[in-house]
Amino acid sequence: MGERSSTGWLDRLLGRRAEPTLGDARLDVAFSDIETNLIHGGDSNQRIGRAVVSPIFQTANYLVGGEGAYEDVRYIRLNNSPNHELLHRRLALIEDAEDALVAASGMAAITSVLFAFLGHGDHLLAHRSLYGGTQTFLDQDAPGLGIEYTGINMADPDGWKAALRPRTRLIYVEGVSNPLMEVGDLEAVIAFAREHGLVSVIDNTFLTPVNFRPLSVGFDLVVHSATKYLNGHSDIVAGAVAGSSACVLDVRRRLNHLGGSLDPHACFLLERGLKTLALRVERQNGSALQLAEFLHEHPRVLRVNYPGLPSDPGHERAAKLFSGFGGMLSFDVQSGEEADAFLRNVRIPLHAVSLGSAESLVVQPSRSSHLGVPVAERERLGITDALIRVSVGIESIDELIADFDRALSAA
Ligand code: PLP
Repeated sequence: MGERSSTGWLDRLLGRRAEPTLGDARLDVAFSDIETNLIHGGDSNQRIGRAVVSPIFQTANYLVGGEGAYEDVRYIRLNNSPNHELLHRRLALIEDAEDALVAASGMAAITSVLFAFLGHGDHLLAHRSLYGGTQTFLDQDAPGLGIEYTGINMADPDGWKAALRPRTRLIYVEGVSNPLMEVGDLEAVIAFAREHGLVSVIDNTFLTPVNFRPLSVGFDLVVHSATKYLNGHSDIVAGAVAGSSACVLDVRRRLNHLGGSLDPHACFLLERGLKTLALRVERQNGSALQLAEFLHEHPRVLRVNYPGLPSDPGHERAAKLFSGFGGMLSFDVQSGEEADAFLRNVRIPLHAVSLGSAESLVVQPSRSSHLGVPVAERERLGITDALIRVSVGIESIDELIADFDRALSAA
C-alpha cells in the first residue's frame, strides 16, 4: 500500500517547489487492488478548500513555470491540467501501466496511437472485424495518408505471417470485438508482435481493466473509448491510452498536435464515473451471463455471441485470460424484420447507440456503428440486420430477462 503525499500538484501550480515528474514518488499514491485505486489511486492528497472531490480547473492556460519541454507547458490542449494529470495517474494504475493519457474521444485516442507509430508507406495488421469507426478509418481514411492495413482473423495465427509486409509496423486487436464478441488468440498476438518487431495495440473498451489488464500479459499499448464503461453514465465522450512511458510520450506528442484534448469538465465526470467502475462491471458481468444463457435457450434466437458461454468459440481463450466476460453480447434472430419488431417491443433497454452505461442499450450494428462498412463486407462477417447488440446495464436482471422474453415472443 502506498502512502499519501503531503505535497502535490497544488504546490507545483503555486510554484512552491520544483516541478516533479510523473514518476515522482510523492505523487505515487498507489494501492494493490483496482477497487481502491479507482477511488484513491494517483491522488495527490491536496484538498483545495478541504473539498473531498476534485475541483474542475476550468482555465485554458496557466502561469509560466519554467517548463523545459513543450508538453509540460500548461495549456488545456496539452491535456495537462490537474484534472487531466490525476486521471493519467489513476488510469496508469488501473491498467498496470507506467503512464496513461486521456483524449477527447475513443477515436482521438485510437487515431493518435496509429499516427504515432505509422507513417506514409507503413502497414498494419488488424482484426478483420472491429468497431465500425476504427474499421472505416482504416478502410477509408488511412489509405489516403499512405497507411495500408490487412484484416486478419485474430483467432487463427496460421495466416498471419503471410500477411506481413516489409513495412508492417503494428498489430491491432479488440479484447472482445465489436459487435461479434470474438476473442482472438491474444497470447499469440503478443508473441507474434515480439517476434516481428511490431507494436501491439489492444482496444480494451468492452472488457475494462476490471476484467482484463492487457499490459500485464505483454501488450504494448491499451486504448479505450472512455465514453463507455470507464465513465459509465452516457454523458461524456472521452478516450484513454495506457502503456510504457516512452510509448505514451510518443502518443502524447502526436495528440498534442492533433488537438484531441479532453475538456476539464469531462475529466471531472470521468473521474467520478471511474469510482464505480468495479461495482458496475462486476454486476454487468453477472447479468450479461444470465441474459446470454437465457437467450441461448430461446426458440426465437438463432445464435448468441458471448465469450462467457461454454459453447462460444472464444470461451476457452477468454476463460484463460479474463477474470470476467463483460457486459456486452449480441444475438441473431430470424430476420431484420424480427429484429425491428423486437426493438419496438422491448421496454427496459433503450434503443440507442453506444454502450457500457448504467442503462441497458440495444441496437442493430448494421444500422448504426457499422453503417459505414460496405453491405457485402458486413454480410460476409455476419453483421446482418438480424443481429442485435446488447449492452447490459445494472437494472434488475429478472425484469430485464422477462422484458426480452416478452419482446421476443411478440416479435
Ligand atoms: N472502440 C470501441 C470498441 C467502441 O465501441 C467505440 C465506440 O463505440 C470506440 C472505440 C470509439 O469511441 P468514441 O465514440 O469514444 O470515439
